[in-house]
Amino acid sequence: MIQSKTKYINCPNCQTQIEWSDANKHRPFCSKRCQLIDFGEWATEKKSIAGEPTYTDEDENGELLQ
Ligand SMILES: [Zn+2]
Repeated sequence: MIQSKTKYINCPNCQTQIEWSDANKHRPFCSKRCQLIDFGEWATEKKSIAGEPTYTDEDENGELLQ
């Protein structure tokens, strides 16, 4: 399956433009370093999720984060 359109995003941490692809394991971040930095920031405010830095837009618990 070939995607004709390549999507680019900016790393939320350092704003580096990266290609959004399956090859980028750290998306939406440019690198593991940025991923860990961002993950660490919010993880300090919430309970640590056991080694699963998975991003979902869905709210799993039905709770609103405000
Ligand atoms: Zn970055």
